[in-house]
Amino acid sequence: MDPKNIWWLRWCLLAIIECDRFEWKHFYKLYIDSKEWKKRSKAIKNERGNKCQLCSSFESLQVHHNTHERIGHEDDADLIVLCRRCHSKFHGVI
Ligand SMILES: [Zn+2]
Ligand SMILES: [Zn+2]
Repeated sequence: MDPKNIWWLRWCLLAIIECDRFEWKHFYKLYIDSKEWKKRSKAIKNERGNKCQLCSSFESLQVHHNTHERIGHEDDADLIVLCRRCHSKFHGVI
């Protein structure tokens, strides 16, 4: 097995154990709160110059998932760094 998928599997197991039913939203929240995601999002922000990719703001940066297909082993292209304002606009539009 691809070693980078091991912690992802661990999170799946945790989520299944913690929920009676597999609830995506709950699982996604677990993931967003995880140390692995915090590390990943920090690295992505650094890589993109710690600024919003839409308006170049440096304030309240968040990492948005363009797709949830590869949660836990995202390609760089799956992620976009946005400030809070652009992030909420993004979600309003889609
Ligand atoms: Zn912005
Ligand atoms: Zn988002």
